[in-house]
Amino acid sequence: MERQTINRVVIAGGGTAGWVTAASLSHNLGPALDITLVESEAIGTIGVGEATIPTHTSFHAMLGINEAEFMRATHATFKLGIQFEGWKDKGESYIHSFGQVGKHTWMAPFHHLWLHARDLGIEGDFEDYCLELKAAKADKFFTSDKQKPLNYAYHLDAVAYAKYLRGFSEKKGVKRVEGKIQNVLQYAESGNIKAVELENGALIEGDLFIDCTGFNGLLIEKTLKTGYDDWRHWLPMDSAYAVQTQKTGPAIPYTRAIAHENGWRWRIPLQHRVGNGFVFTSEKLSNDDAREQFENALEGEALTEPRLIRFITGRRKKVWNKNCVALGLSSGFLEPLESTSIHLFQRGVTELVKHFPYHGITPALADLYNDKISKEVEQIRDFLILHYKVTQRDDSEFWRERQAMDIPDTLAARLSLFEENAHAYNGCDELFLLDSWIQVMFGQGIEPKGYHAIGQLFPKDRLENALKSQREKVASTLAQLPSHQEFIDQYCS
Ligand code: FAD
Repeated sequence: MERQTINRVVIAGGGTAGWVTAASLSHNLGPALDITLVESEAIGTIGVGEATIPTHTSFHAMLGINEAEFMRATHATFKLGIQFEGWKDKGESYIHSFGQVGKHTWMAPFHHLWLHARDLGIEGDFEDYCLELKAAKADKFFTSDKQKPLNYAYHLDAVAYAKYLRGFSEKKGVKRVEGKIQNVLQYAESGNIKAVELENGALIEGDLFIDCTGFNGLLIEKTLKTGYDDWRHWLPMDSAYAVQTQKTGPAIPYTRAIAHENGWRWRIPLQHRVGNGFVFTSEKLSNDDAREQFENALEGEALTEPRLIRFITGRRKKVWNKNCVALGLSSGFLEPLESTSIHLFQRGVTELVKHFPYHGITPALADLYNDKISKEVEQIRDFLILHYKVTQRDDSEFWRERQAMDIPDTLAARLSLFEENAHAYNGCDELFLLDSWIQVMFGQGIEPKGYHAIGQLFPKDRLENALKSQREKVASTLAQLPSHQEFIDQYCS
């Protein structure tokens, strides 16, 4: 007989997704739940996933995490954006920062004014209107309890982060069981999951199962056969090499995403080392060639052997199926170009907390949840495709194919609005806001044909002074900020 009340939660898997889930459920719903997490040291974790986006700071604030303590434990640095090198064209680069560029008005965002000013020759550099972008370029950073002039995220050590959250969750009552799940038991009638069985024969029963078993998808796919939408026709990357290297200088406050002929490479600066990866498509590059190109490009001495990771870009057809919710890599994967995976399971568990099915799972509840998560994933997918589609690179078949590829209708509509009239917009509940879309579209070299008439409402000298004063404000704040490395040394000591 299945129980109606749902309070026994079993989290299968203890990578970042498993421990983020355990931390949030225990912190927010602890007294109402009995939470067990099963993980297998023998299987281990993926061990990558070290760049985040600003939602990470609000997730931590919700958990009441002390920032300096977290940063010491995970060797974290601050992140103000991503520098895209060679994406628009070879030898060119731009930063997608987490900041707002200029002051928006209700009638039109800032870039419409700026485009008009550019036609008058009084515009100033677009980046001079964004503090985060300027601070990233100048390697500067500052935050405090009282003053947060910058919008930021973190770079962190993935293995240390899972360990840190394990300590946090266990203090809040999460029970950890070590062992390999070898069997998943289901109720005959409903197909719901009843228990997981470990190699040593132990049975762990539950009412709600969270699949955090990574690419294994042990519950959501191997057991429930949920199905997968394959998005490789839009995002053909299917492989990555990852390696850690020694630091070669002070930690910079941004991730680097460096385009290559058949893929791209990341550099994520931590306090004690740098995380590196090379993302490529096996259709265009053999493993050996990819590894050689990656090793030749590495800066700093390698601390680990390059590790090959295979993936299929896409998403699970449902992330909530029966009494199982998939969070993390078991729910799908989008390449880490905009560092969105950790955010997605933080969002996933936050939605689960909000809609926790204490009195039983109904199809309407699961549908609502699936709908919310799938819309967000699609919007992120479109944002990633944008980086490839609007490249001006034509130095390899790979980039020429990206320019020529079909794109989702949703992205085509957005692109045409920007190309025609410089309109960039946000739908409800979108992760990437207007400023992100604008920075990437301008960064990749899109020149809108028209723009809003707002600029024409101001006399030229008034517009010129207003723009100058915005730039001066950014410059004077920037001048007061310490260097990122200096700030970290003092903040984390
Ligand atoms: P895993 O870390 O694989 O954990 C799976 C867990 O399940 C482990 O504890 C394992 O032991 C357990 N398990 C599996 N099978 C069993 C079993 N049978 N019995 C018991 N336990 C089992 N995300 C970002 O946000 N930013 C990034 O910069 C970023 N970069 C990435 C780069 C690459 C190349 C890849 C592949 C991913 C990247 N990600 C990034 C995604 C990020 O790594 C993951 O989302 C995150 O680490 C969560 O992984 P996970 O916990 O779902 O899976």
